[in-house]
Amino acid sequence: MKVISTIKEMREYRLCLTQSVGFVPTMGALHKGHQSLIKQSIQDNAHTIVSIFVNPTQFGANEDFDAYPRDLEKDITLCEQSGVDAVFIPSVEEMYCGDEITLNPPKKMGYVLEGFDRPTHFAGVLQVVLKLFSLIQPHRAYFGQKDAQQVLILQKMISDLFLPIVIVPCPIVRDDDGLAFSSRNIYLSPKEREIALRIPQTIQRVRTYIAQGITQVSQLESLAFKELSYDGLMLFYATFRNHQLEYITHIEQGKSIFLIAAKVGKTRLIDNLWI
Ligand code: AMP
Repeated sequence: MKVISTIKEMREYRLCLTQSVGFVPTMGALHKGHQSLIKQSIQDNAHTIVSIFVNPTQFGANEDFDAYPRDLEKDITLCEQSGVDAVFIPSVEEMYCGDEITLNPPKKMGYVLEGFDRPTHFAGVLQVVLKLFSLIQPHRAYFGQKDAQQVLILQKMISDLFLPIVIVPCPIVRDDDGLAFSSRNIYLSPKEREIALRIPQTIQRVRTYIAQGITQVSQLESLAFKELSYDGLMLFYATFRNHQLEYITHIEQGKSIFLIAAKVGKTRLIDNLWI
């Protein structure tokens, strides 16, 4: 496996690849969620490239950029054992020159939900992903459905900018207790983790209510709010939307998402259900 840290070397490496290229962008501290994306890419493509880059431009001023979990050695070993062809691990200086052209996320999708609480977040995501796409020129790029709003906005970027890349959304991978894997889960104390489990439990309940035939969003939301009213869990949103992230009154199979964001202790957690 190649470990590449400069733009120049990445360009040269990419030029040598003549078959299909799958790309998995990550911020490292790799877990089973990331591994599932890597596995899918290896299955679909002749070559798989993983990037590990904690992107400063997608963190707000009061967020955890400095404290974000980093474990490069372990990540590199995991990539190698998974059968990745190359990992790209650039420095911030390699990726950014300072005063740069940036992209604004779409007004309707980019400043609601995560974008409401973190108004600069999606501009940072678009900036780094577009740069990585330009450099790596993948045929397919793999993203987790866990970051539902991110996947939808990136699909819109591909469509709006006519990029010849297929975004492959991959299912949410959960730990044995139901909590969706996240690099930030290590911040949770055992007590906080127990509280956080209310989130996947609510998702499971909502899934059951839907299976029982409830489609009215007001009814589903009030059931969900009851589950999520819990000491120690600060809810930002629990909401049903369509794939344009607009409000809906009734859910529709294949067209609706239930999204949750909450804080437990100092840890912000997101989770969702693609209906
Ligand atoms: P991150 O390193 O947190 O930026 O995540 C890199 C990619 O992994 C993103 O596309 C995430 O949506 C995806 N991802 C993170 N956690 C999970 C999970 N539990 N299941 C599936 N994909 C995930």
